[in-house]
This record gives sequence, C-alpha cells and structure tokens, in this order.
Amino acid sequence: MKKILVVALAVALVTGAASPTFAAPVAAVSQQKDSIGVDTKVEPLKFGSKAWNKLPMEDRQLLTQLKTVKETFEKHARAIWSDNFRPDRTPMIFGNAPDVFELPTHALAINVKPAGGVKLDLPKELGFEVYRTVDEGVLEKIKSNGPFGFEWHEDGTTGPWLLSYGTGHSVTDPDTWIASRIHVHELFHSHQAVFKNLREHMEQGKYPRGPVEAHALSLVQDELLAKADTGQIDARDALTKWAALQEKRFALNPKLKDFDQTEEILEGSARYVEDEFVKAAGQTHNHATKPDSDKPIDLFWWLAGNRHYQYGAAAGRLLDKVTRSQDWRAEMENGKSFFDIARAELFKDTSIDVCVRTAMIAAQREYDLESKKAMIERADLPSLDIPIGDEASRPMRFSQRS
Ligand SMILES: [Zn+2]
Repeated sequence: MKKILVVALAVALVTGAASPTFAAPVAAVSQQKDSIGVDTKVEPLKFGSKAWNKLPMEDRQLLTQLKTVKETFEKHARAIWSDNFRPDRTPMIFGNAPDVFELPTHALAINVKPAGGVKLDLPKELGFEVYRTVDEGVLEKIKSNGPFGFEWHEDGTTGPWLLSYGTGHSVTDPDTWIASRIHVHELFHSHQAVFKNLREHMEQGKYPRGPVEAHALSLVQDELLAKADTGQIDARDALTKWAALQEKRFALNPKLKDFDQTEEILEGSARYVEDEFVKAAGQTHNHATKPDSDKPIDLFWWLAGNRHYQYGAAAGRLLDKVTRSQDWRAEMENGKSFFDIARAELFKDTSIDVCVRTAMIAAQREYDLESKKAMIERADLPSLDIPIGDEASRPMRFSQRS
C-alpha cells in the first residue's frame, strides 16, 4: 500500500514522457545536453578527486543533477518563473535508502548542515558544499517523511526539504534525468504556498463523466494547444479558441469549472516550471498531448487528470508568446487560473458569444469534433467503474515514464 502511494505521489508530479511530440523550442545549450530526455542515464561528473570517486554511483549522480539545477537557476530563475522560486537555495537533505520507506544508510545535505554532518572534501568545481551524515535522528526523519516533502514540525513550522533516493525504487532515483525535473516540479508545489486562494486537489475519480460534447471539446482543445505550442498555428488565435471552448464546456457542465481550474493551476503551473527548467538546462521535454488510447479507462484518466498538466503548461507558454511578458505569473500567484488570465487578455474586443461561435465552427471543421464525440460516446464513461479514493486507480499516471 505504501509503495503504491509513493508511486502515486511521484508520478502525480511527473513529467510524462510517452511521446516525443515536442522538441525543445529553445536552442539547446550544448550538443551533449541536447539529447538529454527523461530516461537518459546520468553520467556522473568526472573529477580527479579521491573523495568524489569514493562516493557511491548514485550519490555522484545525485550531485551531478543538483549541479545542473543550481547552475540553471542561477542563470535563469527569472525566465523559469521568478527570482523568488529558487530550488537551488533550498536547504535539502537527501537520504540514500534501499527503498523509500526504509531507513537510509546515509544522507547528503546541501544548503544546510544537518545533525552529525561532516563536510565532504569535494572539488570546488562542483559549486556547492555537501555534508554527509549518518545521524539516526536525521535518517529516521527522512524515512518517516516518505519520498519527499519538507520536514514537518508540530508547531506548524517546517525544516529542510527531505528526499529519499536509491537505486531502482522510485522516479526520484538519480540514475536518470527525470529526477531533477521531478525535484523542481515538487519544489514548485511548495512555492505554490504563496498563491492566493489555492485549493486542494480535487478527487479525480469524481471527475464529471459527461456530457459527451464537453469531453470531446477537451480533446479538440488539446489538439489546438499542441499545434500552437509547436508553432504550427497562431498562438493568439489558438489561445482565444481554447478559452472560448472552456466557456462552452463550463456552460455544458458547470461542475467542470472548479475541477479544471483547480488542477490547471496546481499541476499546469508546476509542469510549466518543470518544462522551463528543462529548456533552460538545454534538455528536451516531451509529454503526451493526448490519451494513450481510446479505451474508456485511458480516456477517463486523461480527461480527469493528466491533461491538466499538459494543457496548463502549454497555455503558460502561449501566454508568454501572446502577452510578451511574464505578468501572468504574478496574476496566477494572485489566484487567477490560466483560463481567467487568457479570458481577460483575449476577450477584450470581441464578445464572448462571438468567440465561442467561432471556436465551435473551428472545432467542427478543423478538429473533427464529431468523431471525437463518437469516441467519447463509445467509451460510455458514465458506466466506467472507478474505485473512488484508491490510489491504485490511477494507472495512467504511473505509466507516464515508459
Ligand atoms: Zn505536481
């Protein structure tokens, strides 16, 4: 049960990697980094240092990824989100554990000296100091804290960010580059504490099952944003149509609104930041832009959860292009969703009704709304049996890494 939870937590944040639909739209930093994707093995940095070479492989891989995070945020924090989101400066303790809920054998810490911490004699070129500890209290805290999260105190305050890593048990393992993306994504969730009126996650199993047209329009929107995101169609026009179709969907079923807005803020912004980090580091991001298949379960989890990551991140990139500013990020911190921001920006000159009509015509003529409706109809989502509240009922999220 606990293991399932780990995966649920971890992949809920993930990153997704199913299809290489997106190429990084910014120039890659170097030829070598150009090929770094989520599953790329981490080659540890090479130093002629005894202390470095004595470290276990996974420790060197972890520190190699942390160096990339640090250098990327030092140069690009504002471009990624703002000067106030600095995962490179967060006090963090990483436990090297055989499994996430087992006691780590030791822990490495940066930006903080933990109890029992001994500074490692590592090369200056690494760029930061690293402490190693085997203090039982520290190791126990990491174990009881689960895969990651801030150390929690009973008086409501928090301590350093704690994370458990090892070999082969979790997406937080540092052997592939996905770990640093998850790390940034997760730390952004903690940054979201500054967001006004932030709501808790909705229960995805309770996502509205209909009506058919509202869900078919979701698939139209996904196609629309994916095309605009890769520069195939005009960003402003696509974002306007996307927002107009949101209006239409929310009119078709008002319950969709709370759900979509909550999830697009929480996961869309975190995925946006994760992707911006990946781009700034010169790596590639490649996420699924549509359901894995037209099987009812795949369709449902896409509609109820996974698409919010993707469309939120794409909407953020389109807002960057359309507004040519980052002001929307401050608006989001003030409690606005991507939809609120796009609507305020784009519906200034034309009535919403006209925008909705235009978008619906495009949905029918250019995005084959009728066949999408037929696909949703066939899936018969109202009859789909999903055990509510069971983490194991989110299979699609787990499959994102493959
Ligand atoms: Zn997340």
